[in-house]
Amino acid sequence: MTETTQEALPISITGLSKRYGAAVALDQVDLDIRSGEFLTLLGPSGSGKTTLLMAIAGFMRPDSGSLKFGDAEMICVPPHKRDVGMVFQSYALFPHMNVAQNVAFALNLRKVPAAEVRRRVEQALHTVQLDGLGERGIEQLSGGQRQRVALARAIVFEPRILLMDEPLSALDKKLREHMQVELRRLHELLGITTVYVTHDQREALTMSDRIAVIHQGRVAQVGTPQDIYERPASRFIADFIGESSFLPVRFVDGHAWCAERLLKLPAGARPRDPAVLMLRPEHLRLTDAADDPELNTFTGTLDKIIYQGDSHLLLVTLQGGVAVGVRGPRQDGRQGGLPPLGATVTLGLHRDGTVLVPDD
Ligand code: ADP
Ligand code: MG
Repeated sequence: MTETTQEALPISITGLSKRYGAAVALDQVDLDIRSGEFLTLLGPSGSGKTTLLMAIAGFMRPDSGSLKFGDAEMICVPPHKRDVGMVFQSYALFPHMNVAQNVAFALNLRKVPAAEVRRRVEQALHTVQLDGLGERGIEQLSGGQRQRVALARAIVFEPRILLMDEPLSALDKKLREHMQVELRRLHELLGITTVYVTHDQREALTMSDRIAVIHQGRVAQVGTPQDIYERPASRFIADFIGESSFLPVRFVDGHAWCAERLLKLPAGARPRDPAVLMLRPEHLRLTDAADDPELNTFTGTLDKIIYQGDSHLLLVTLQGGVAVGVRGPRQDGRQGGLPPLGATVTLGLHRDGTVLVPDD
């Protein structure tokens, strides 16, 4: 599998809905996934990510809506005829089979000749860097190796679509970060249209070509990691992605006011009423320049200084009571240069980092 033999397919989802009794798991989902892209479904637990993935795989029949691979409607096509590889959170490996037998499973179901099965299994194990481990028992593998077997099993029949449901969530942080890079490498190698599920915002930002934020069974926003992080479409999304605090904004004659002052916004910004001001730690600085024409400034009390190795996080309570984080530079492990706890401080927010988020 060093080359793609089948063309990657786009996925087009329209008006997809699914209820379980009174609970709405999917609510009129519209989503276009481009051919060959790595798209992540990101959302909190219970938002409908797995349900949507199961609908794409064919393990769950939606109540209404359309699902197309390329031009072909798939709603009535059974899972084994959809040409979709799937990796589950739990790996779902067969414990009584060795590695090669696990990987060969889908090929044997498809009645592929034995010599061809051996060749493809070897190739898939090579792709996930498990060369020579075919005879191993599943019990003799580490968590990371099991995850690779699950992956090899999903790609061995050269599917045109690859679905992964929180595949790394059972791994510890270091291995997870290593596998994130591995999965990206594999995606670039194979070029398969990939739909990846996670509730981890950093993982989504790291891995994805695009992210679809899922909230209460709906697609809340679709965009590049940068779009989602820097221009969140709602307060929920801004809150879910990154550390954010919010200040109320008042509109007077189309001008945005915050904390009794006219807000300086990026050139050309046309904020929508109602909105809130998003404050992120990396956008705020301690400042003495209260009259800098490029800065919005806020006054507060320094409550806490948290040493984080590469930086400091300052916790400041603004006038009005909203608590914000401020990312400060590393100070050689000492706190020299920082004001004492309890001091009144001025925070500067550059015009270009001043983001208003729709609040509705
Ligand atoms: P996520 O994967 O984002 O955590 P799910 O897709 O698993 O969310 O679930 C979405 C919603 O649908 C949840 O409220 C969940 O309780 C409900 N749900 C999912 N599967 C079933 C089921 N088989 N029966 C009843 N309710 C379900
Ligand atoms: Mg899930």
